[in-house]
Amino acid sequence: MSRILIIEDEEAIASLEKDYLELSGFEVDIETDGSKGLTQALTRDYDLYILDLMLPGMDGFEICREIREARDTPILMVSAKKDDIDKIRGLGLGADDYITKPFSPSELVARVKAHLSRYDRLIGTNLHKNDVIKIRGLKIDKTARRVWVNGEETQFTTKEFDLLTFLAENPNHVYSKDELFREIWNMESIGDIATVTVHIKKIREKIEFDTSKPQYIETIWGVGYRFKV
Ligand code: CA
Repeated sequence: MSRILIIEDEEAIASLEKDYLELSGFEVDIETDGSKGLTQALTRDYDLYILDLMLPGMDGFEICREIREARDTPILMVSAKKDDIDKIRGLGLGADDYITKPFSPSELVARVKAHLSRYDRLIGTNLHKNDVIKIRGLKIDKTARRVWVNGEETQFTTKEFDLLTFLAENPNHVYSKDELFREIWNMESIGDIATVTVHIKKIREKIEFDTSKPQYIETIWGVGYRFKV
């Protein structure tokens, strides 16, 4: 459940906002004093702040600046004066949205929802995990193009990396040297398939405990190679 902090000194407005937001399933706290509001904002985890501009203790400009220095959480600023909204925009304090009083509670709820889902998408993008293949002691980070063998990072050339990754992504499938050459070197194989053999040998030296008994890349005699899982 998303948690919202309202910093607003007009209690009637604050409780109206709270009621509507709670009806929409949000958890809501209210602070009526600016400096207490800032403390609350930074000591508890919130998903969004609704911040009035004119407040006792500390004004909304300062609170917005302070919150923004510490957090990326969306801030919705509320003001009775259109002029103030223009001023806030001009100051570039990092608020995400502005609403002029009076506003309808449903408009507020709609904006809150829009900002929360936008922020969720942003967070989701930032946390997007690297594409990693893990097979026994072998870990291949495709995004970062890095390889670890039994926990130790090991260097691979571009083609070695491409070949290893291709085989590991297509396990239990036998590929001929011609197929691998076309796949990795991206051109028609004209008898230069020895390149594949050389690369397989180098990869094995890096990933296999005993290259004479490969655990990962098997040789299928007369056919090609197969990545074993
Ligand atoms: Ca006020």
